[in-house]
Amino acid sequence: MARSYVREARRRGLGRRRERIGPIVERLAEEHADAQIALRFRSDLELLVSVMLSAQTTDTNVNRVTPALFDKYRRPEDYLAVPQEELERDIYATGFFRQKAKAIQGTMRVLLENFDGKVPSTLDELVTLPGVARKTANVVAAELGHAQGIVVDTHVRRLSQRLGLTRHDDPVKIERDLQKVVSRANWARFPHLLIWHGRAVCISRAPRCPECVLLDLCPEGQIRVPPRRVRRTA
Ligand code: SF4
Repeated sequence: MARSYVREARRRGLGRRRERIGPIVERLAEEHADAQIALRFRSDLELLVSVMLSAQTTDTNVNRVTPALFDKYRRPEDYLAVPQEELERDIYATGFFRQKAKAIQGTMRVLLENFDGKVPSTLDELVTLPGVARKTANVVAAELGHAQGIVVDTHVRRLSQRLGLTRHDDPVKIERDLQKVVSRANWARFPHLLIWHGRAVCISRAPRCPECVLLDLCPEGQIRVPPRRVRRTA
């Protein structure tokens, strides 16, 4: 279990999670007005494939591969018209290419058999696709305007812990904690805000607390940059 800043936040008088979450979202939205998914896609199908390819690699890496991939494979049938080895070569640079190619072809088969070749938008339907776990399903559903959960990736986990919004390490438990305090209307946007803040300011090894807009709301920031004591004058 991660070091708990939930209690630390209360001990330092920063307020309860429910009290801090409003200003946290507001300030991040102002700071990162252009926060959005970094993957590039033009259709629901391209979104699904991009998110599947993004497992264990960076979005930049996926974006390097997908332009040529999406020119070649435009419909679910196209992914099934080639041997798995050919698809493996086409997605090789994203890593774990064997599992990914197998999952993509399995997913295309199920899309054609059960969903008329269309990408479903609910979490329950998305997780029936081979190789589509809850995190992938959450990302896709949110981008399709049907957020039913909160995506927890490495940035969301780190920032949620540092900000004292969860005391857990397990993504499912973190998601449950976040769902209790983040308003449903912000479920899709909230992870993007944390991801952008995590890349630009709350960096894993060296968070830039002194210049962070959340410093007065953040228990970890308060420990790293203690507020100056006001010296009493006689
Ligand atoms: Fe991260 Fe520091 Fe900002 Fe807290 S104050 S969110 S630890 S950068």
